[in-house]
This record gives sequence, C-alpha cells and structure tokens, in this order.
Amino acid sequence: MACVLQIGAGGVGGVVAHKMAQNREVFSRIILASRTLDKCKVIADSIKQKGLGEIEIDCVDADSVESMVALIEKYKPKLVVNVALPYQDLSIMEACLRTKTHYLDTANYEHPDSAHFEYKEQWAYDTRYKEAGIFGLLGSGFDPGVTNVFCAYAQKHYFDEIHSIDILDCNAGDHGYAFATNFNPEINLREVSSKARFWVKDENLAQNTDLKKDTIYRKFEREEKHFSLEANTQDLKNEDYFGGQWQDIAPLALMKEWDYPEVGVKNSYLLYHEELESLVRNIKGLKRIRFFMTFGESYLTHMKCLENVGLLRVDEIEHNGQKIVPIQVLKTLLPDPASLASRTKGQTNIGCFIKGLKDGKDRTIYIYNICDHEACYKEVNAQGVSYTTGVPAMIGAKLILEGKWGIGVAKIPNNADNSDMPQGGEFQGIDSHNGGGVWNMEQNDPDPFMSELNKQGLPYVVCEIDSKGERKVLEDGRK
Ligand code: NDP
Repeated sequence: MACVLQIGAGGVGGVVAHKMAQNREVFSRIILASRTLDKCKVIADSIKQKGLGEIEIDCVDADSVESMVALIEKYKPKLVVNVALPYQDLSIMEACLRTKTHYLDTANYEHPDSAHFEYKEQWAYDTRYKEAGIFGLLGSGFDPGVTNVFCAYAQKHYFDEIHSIDILDCNAGDHGYAFATNFNPEINLREVSSKARFWVKDENLAQNTDLKKDTIYRKFEREEKHFSLEANTQDLKNEDYFGGQWQDIAPLALMKEWDYPEVGVKNSYLLYHEELESLVRNIKGLKRIRFFMTFGESYLTHMKCLENVGLLRVDEIEHNGQKIVPIQVLKTLLPDPASLASRTKGQTNIGCFIKGLKDGKDRTIYIYNICDHEACYKEVNAQGVSYTTGVPAMIGAKLILEGKWGIGVAKIPNNADNSDMPQGGEFQGIDSHNGGGVWNMEQNDPDPFMSELNKQGLPYVVCEIDSKGERKVLEDGRK
C-alpha cells in the first residue's frame, strides 16, 4: 500500500493512471499532476467511470525544480512516476533527490535545443541517489523498457553469451490520416529524423549485409538546403564506445524487410534508440546491437517533405516579428496523439531478435509482444503505443513499491565494466550496489517483470529459430 505521484497527463499518462488504479492493492493513493489540470480531470473522470475509484489531481510546472519539490512535499509519495516529456527528466530527478523520493521515467533526457539524447546526465545522479538511499529506474516504457527486459531475460534463461541483438519495433496500426504521429509529435519527429547509429565490435557484422538501401525517404533528398540543418543530422562519424564503435548512418538510409509474426512483412528502418547505450554495457559478449522501426510510405514521404521545407527545425526562427520554433508549430498543426486512440485499428509487434551461444552451440531466440490498438482503447481509452509504454511504467512502479526491484534488492551479475567512466561521484555510471542509485531496466531481475507483463495486458512470446528459419514457440504468455 503506497502513495504514488504521477507527472504527465498525455497519452501515456492516461494509461499509467488507469493501470495503477487497476492495481489498488499496491497503489492505494494516486496523485496525478501535470501542466494542464483539465487533462488530469479527464483521466480522473474516466477512471471513476470505469469503477476504478478516485484519484487526486494537481497542477505543476515540472520544469521548475522548486515547484516539483513543493508538490512532492505536499503529498509525500514513495515514488514519482515521470511520464511528462524527456525535457523534464532532470528537474524531476533533482526534486526526487532533494526530497529523497524514488524516481521512474520512460524516456531519456533530451535537451529542448538539440535533438540529441544520451544517458550521461541521468547516470550522473547515480552516486547521489545511492547516498540518499533512493532508487531511480530509467526507461520503464516498451522501448526502452520491455525490450531491455527481454534482453536480460534471454541472457538469464536462454544464452551463455549473446552476440547480436536486433530490436524490431512495428506499429501496423492505421489511424486513417495521411500523416500523424502516435506519440508526442515533437519527440517522435526529432527521434526519427536524427542520424541513425548502431554499435558494433566485429568488422564483419559492421557491413550490415542483410540490409537494403532505402529508396522512399531518399527519393526527395537534395544536398543543398535553403536553411541550415542541425549538425546532429549531418555530422556522420564513427565513435569508439565501450570496446566497440558507434557507427553513424544518414537518417532512414538503411532498412530491412522483416516478417513480424501475426502482422506480416514490413519495411523496418535502422534508427538510433536510447536502450542501445545501456544494453551495450550490460549484455555479455555483445558484438552488435541495432534498432529498427517500421514506417509506411506515406509517413516517410510526408516527413521528408516537412524536413525539406524546414518544418522539422528545432531552432528558433523569426516569423512576423515573433520567435517561433518550426517543429513546435508543426506539433500544433498535427492531430493530438491521444485523439488517434478511438480511430486506430491494427496491432503493434515489438520484440528482440537475439543470436548467441548456448552450451557451445549457435542459438537464435525471438521474444516479442503483440498488442491490439482497439483492445487498448476499449480497456483504457488509449491507442497501442501509449498502452505499450504506460503498462510497463506501471509494472516498474509496482515492482519498486512491492520491494521486488530497488532498495535492498541485489543487482544481477552482468558484464558491466565501467572502467571507462570517470570515477568518484559524478559520472560513476551504472555500477550500483544495495539497490540504490540510478538503474537501467536490464540491471534488474527480469523474471518478476516478465511475469507481470503476462498478467497486466502485454503477454510475451518466446520463439526459437532453427538453422532453416523455422520458428518453434517455447513460451506463449497468452495461453
Ligand atoms: P504527451 O505529449 O501526450 O504528454 C505529455 C504530458 O506531459 C502532457 O500532459 C503535458 O502537459 C505534460 N507536460 C509537458 N511539459 C510539462 C511540464 N513542464 N510540466 C508538467 N507537465 C508537463 O506525451 P506522451 O504521453 O505520448 O509521452 C509521455 C512520455 O513517454 C514522453 O517522455 C515520451 O518520450 C515517452 N514515451 C516512451 C516510450 C517508450 O516506449 N519508452 C514510447 C512513447 C513515449 P500538457 O497537456 O499541458 O501539454
């Protein structure tokens, strides 16, 4: 029985609050606070209407550490669940530190002025969280989140050594619009239009012989732009990291056709995604890790066009005597992702395709979840992308409050060698002890999380794939 404070009342926030209300034996008091009180009220009313009881609501500007501290002191929660935007991660983490309150989020800190994300600034809280005796859980959504846990589960139960991981994220949902994004448009478009990168330790695997060059996004590519693009998307380089190398490629340049079980074949594009950074450190024997996401022709063509005219710019420009940021204007024009929920049909299929060794023999394991958009809407008024993020956020929170993850729970043995991280306080990184500090998902025991996935609406399937490509189901949480 515990009090939890949730920040953020968007698409994901709606799901987290509903799912917490479904688990009252753990979340006995729920406070939902966000920038716009009305959005909190809509969620609270829906929870009540569904017979899930009352939640309290409040208003906060989470960019202000002082306001966050005051809010935490007002309610004295055991845990703060941050499902606002990645821009607020550091101010909320800081407020949790000052008030000695556990912290959880679903996305890596991003600076509003630069479409660039890495864990450095959040990992820098590790030592101070340990000293304060609090636990910070980073990235408890689906990807990052469940995908990290799938890798940890594979490492624990199916492999002696993992050599390669492809994270495959397919949203085969159709909302009927020519172009819309299924989560916050600004965050989504910044992520997709940034340069792609993967991590590799083995030259042969760096060739990506299984991938094709994309033709759809590149069709409208021109060298010359009438505005300057952020260097982030142009400055392609290889960078040494943790015994291997990050290799950059142009945005949406490489793709593979992947046959997603029960969904079908989809073009899947190589992207950079934040979970790669922690998995590189925590998965034993890893030689390559990549992330792929599916996009349809309409999405890619619209996005290229928006980029070409300058509407994806994240810098300030002058317009009729006013300062505006083009991508924020675009966000205002596009449908609110939450409004897509009632019109989206189809499924998501997100999983990890993992190769490695077991008992000296090659092994291939594919772990995935399939989620149906219409079923999500029926249950919690959300589309599948919000649902697949919100349910794992609730599960992470539940495990912390039940004492299964976090303080007092030993770290699972893994490959983490943080010798390349500056030691002594700041930037000590992910080498935690006694359960305190700032942890990534795969550092925790995957078993209780996996078991909750089957109970809370995101059942998983584990398949073994033989040398002929035949799939044999080893576990199916739906049965
Ligand atoms: P939305 O834009 O729908 O919701 C964001 C919410 O945060 C809104 O209620 C917004 O308030 C609130 N908010 C924004 N700024 C502030 C602030 N300064 N103070 C208080 N509240 C604020 O986003 P989503 O629900 O789609 O996404 C939520 C989070 O989930 C994001 O961090 C996103 O990156 C992450 N995510 C993670 C995924 C994963 O798998 N790991 C997948 C998808 C999303 P207002 O209503 O006033 O704008």
